[in-house]
Amino acid sequence: MLTKNLDIGSKLINFKERDMFLEELRDFIDEDLIARQINMADNPDSAKIREIIAKARSIERLEPEETAALLNVKDPDLWDEIFKSAGEIKKTVYDNRIVTFAPLYISNYCVNNCLYCGFRSQSTASKRHQLSQDDIKKEVKNLLQTGHKRIILVSGEHPCSGAEYLADSMKSIYDTKILRQGRESGIRRINVNAAPMSIGDLRKIKEAGIGTYQVFQETYHRSSYSRVHLSGAKSDFRWRLYALHRAMEAGIDDVAVGALFGLYDWRFEVMGLLYHAIDLEKRYGIGPHTVSFPRLNYAEGAEYKGDPSYKVNDEDFKKVVAVIRLSIPYSGMIVSAREPKAIRDEVLALGCTQTDGSAQIGIGGYTSEAEKSSSAGSKQFELGDNRSLGQLIRDLAAKGTITSFCTAGYRCGRTGGKIMGLLKSGHEGKFCKLNAILTFKEWIEDFGDQAMRDLGNQLIQKEFQEIERDDFYKGKRLVSLVKEYYQRIEKGERDLYI
Ligand code: SF4
Repeated sequence: MLTKNLDIGSKLINFKERDMFLEELRDFIDEDLIARQINMADNPDSAKIREIIAKARSIERLEPEETAALLNVKDPDLWDEIFKSAGEIKKTVYDNRIVTFAPLYISNYCVNNCLYCGFRSQSTASKRHQLSQDDIKKEVKNLLQTGHKRIILVSGEHPCSGAEYLADSMKSIYDTKILRQGRESGIRRINVNAAPMSIGDLRKIKEAGIGTYQVFQETYHRSSYSRVHLSGAKSDFRWRLYALHRAMEAGIDDVAVGALFGLYDWRFEVMGLLYHAIDLEKRYGIGPHTVSFPRLNYAEGAEYKGDPSYKVNDEDFKKVVAVIRLSIPYSGMIVSAREPKAIRDEVLALGCTQTDGSAQIGIGGYTSEAEKSSSAGSKQFELGDNRSLGQLIRDLAAKGTITSFCTAGYRCGRTGGKIMGLLKSGHEGKFCKLNAILTFKEWIEDFGDQAMRDLGNQLIQKEFQEIERDDFYKGKRLVSLVKEYYQRIEKGERDLYI
């Protein structure tokens, strides 16, 4: 069985495309250099830290030495300044809104043997299942009934779930519509979290209408990587490391990086994510659209329970989030329902921009009661927060935060390099604010009860007041336009965006 998986795994790798980005046969992760940078920054001077914070606040990406200095801060008061700045940077770049989405797991067949994962090829605990196109449509209909507009499609790596299956699945999702109060509703953006692919295969999912392509490196530390990725294509560190470079070559200019925190030292992983962003910027002029930072947690069928010395406690997790926010200030940041509500609330305030609601991570979990209630079966890991989308939106609104379903940037061609410039200048956040209001208004009208509509409308009125005070909008038609669209949505129009 193991040999068979190794064979399948190597067939999934295009070795020429794996090595085409190397410089003098080296990749962009220089472990010795990262270790030196972390060690040399020990006990940094507070004036220097404040200069670094100021640089990040001007939405400039940090250099590795600067990030290493932040990672070494010991003074709790300086950490408080870093946390406060992280929240303010997010407000400058993305304004006061959280984008929400639902994960849609479509197949848990996998050739890889990642020791921490419930889908790994050697696990007998996992029931194998791949959704048919009809199954996918049923899942999407159920998601649409809760008000979701954005999906992240997730699949294990296997020849049966290659680019053609992903592209067919995306077509099924985009084609699925429901009628809600007499109005048609559908999914407006599909992001994909799937295996590294060749450039040719990536072109197929680009043509199918992918939003963001996510590939998490899991760990940037090679021996830690080898220790937990025993076989299959994923055991090849570099094939994975350059997955997003190949996506750029295929024309997918929204790409997402991530690391699974708990496999190695968290400071090293933050540096790895930064070097990944720098290499993408250097070659394509575009850094990652989003950064994810899941923590290792329990999975039925996993063999690796984690090395306690690398476990990231809640205090260090907050530092991870804040330092990423300062280091790559233009990127979106995703905290998922892996995390319990309390810590999710804390890190949302530290600069996160996206989170999931009503998440089900079993295959067929939005349709099958058995998948929802089963603690074993076909899940990749366990969730820490099972709030429904409605509850999540209510909780965020109670704290004064608007939930956004906006997909306007993508649909108006504000992707890749175009959106990067707008994010760095703070201008994209101004559009985010307006489109967040409009999509939030749609949701409260279609899916909220009277109490939710009252709370939501009050929040929107406060947003309007902020807009009227903001110099950016003065003298522009945007203010009257967003108010006009607000009225039109109340009267029944949908999908209005700026
Ligand atoms: S982490 Fe991904 S690649 Fe690894 S076994 Fe799980 S599904 Fe497969």
